[in-house]
Amino acid sequence: MTGNAVAEPLAPAERKQFLRLVREFAQEKVAPRVQEYDAAEKLPDDLLAEMAGLGFFGGVVPPEWGGLGLDHVTFSQVIEEISRVDHCLGVLMSMPSALVGAGLLTFGTDEQRKRWLVPLAEGRIFGGAGVTEPRSGSDVAGTSTRYERTRDGYVLHGAKAWITNLDRASFFVTFATADPSLGRRGLSAFIIPADAPGVLKEPVHNKLGFRPLCTGGLTLGGVELGEEALLGEEGQGFAVAMTAVERGRLSVASRAVGLAQSCLDASVGYAVDRVVFGQPIANFQMVQHKIANMAVSVQAARLLTQQCAEAMQRGERARTEASMAKLYASDTAQSAATEAVQIHGAYGVSEDYGVARAYRDAKVFQIVEGANDIHRLLIARDALATAGRESGS
Ligand SMILES: Cc1cc2nc3c(=O)[nH]c(=O)nc-3n(C[C@H](O)[C@H](O)[C@H](O)COP(=O)(O)OP(=O)(O)OC[C@H]3O[C@@H](n4cnc5c(N)ncnc54)[C@H](O)[C@@H]3O)c2cc1C
Repeated sequence: MTGNAVAEPLAPAERKQFLRLVREFAQEKVAPRVQEYDAAEKLPDDLLAEMAGLGFFGGVVPPEWGGLGLDHVTFSQVIEEISRVDHCLGVLMSMPSALVGAGLLTFGTDEQRKRWLVPLAEGRIFGGAGVTEPRSGSDVAGTSTRYERTRDGYVLHGAKAWITNLDRASFFVTFATADPSLGRRGLSAFIIPADAPGVLKEPVHNKLGFRPLCTGGLTLGGVELGEEALLGEEGQGFAVAMTAVERGRLSVASRAVGLAQSCLDASVGYAVDRVVFGQPIANFQMVQHKIANMAVSVQAARLLTQQCAEAMQRGERARTEASMAKLYASDTAQSAATEAVQIHGAYGVSEDYGVARAYRDAKVFQIVEGANDIHRLLIARDALATAGRESGS
């Protein structure tokens, strides 16, 4: 399959074949290298080029805009497959469909889609999304990056923090306000070429997890943009941001399920092999208890994620479903990774078995794309509003 040549959405048999292709690629091409490039804090260029050639970045983006036109359920399964070996590649595979591309697809003009979305979905370029700021992560409406209108377009001043793909992105979709007192109503979305004068990138090195991804600060020091840089209409920025992050949450959940499944797989394999007190540790009830809990929560997380994907496929916003899937799958990843390290004993602490990397990455899942406490807040609000409607109050 050559991804760049795909012209129509995949048929069911092709979708199955594509999933198998991703699984084989992950096992044969990624698994032997992931430990090394995680330590080096850099994704290998040749691996990404090969993935582009196979159409791995096409996701749910329609074929007319360079993508594969996958349905959301298949897309989620594809992201889970790659993430069983390395979820960081899952980040790059999901960006054209989610955090970076979803806003372009939904709010972009045909010109913007042609210029940015098509090469993004074909894996010819990469992008980044600048939502978080040094003083407003969870509170998107509190964005303080400012824009002013000029004769020919806009000028932006401000700073974004913790932005992924600083090293590879050809452009960033970012957000600025004309007047902070307007809150979310004042927000507008912009497409900023990464090489625009005034753009400064400052990567954070030696992160706890997600190490192969280049993440860090993006300073916008008087960046001048033309009219064509505005994504959507002025004042529509909050809607663009929410479209991007809600699609992003399906991807985070799918990646977390993949990571949690890898912890279960590693734990089962190790428990059968490791002999102490004259028998495999798999015979001990307490180890079985951990494995049982892991298996149940991985499957529950997968089903919540699938439910979210199905709702998106029906064209629903799926805001609460996305929060539930992201929250539960990332908590599952974190607990599965903790138990996997425990089952591996001292070997779990070394980098040789993969579970130490999973343990470091799993914690980060509970923070990115909305800290889990924010998701609890959103889910509770929804539950309380539903209860209020049902009681007529
Ligand atoms: C590796 C990595 C990659 C990232 N990539 C990107 C990216 O590409 N683009 C991007 O825009 N951002 C990115 N981020 C940023 C990430 O999305 C934010 O870190 C996240 O949204 C949380 O924001 P914050 O760190 O500012 O936490 P804060 O908003 O400061 O919150 C800190 C803690 O306070 C608590 N809290 C905050 N508000 C509430 C509340 N209302 N109720 C209850 N508790 C609350 C929570 O426990 C929360 O964890 C990345 C972060 C990391 C670590």
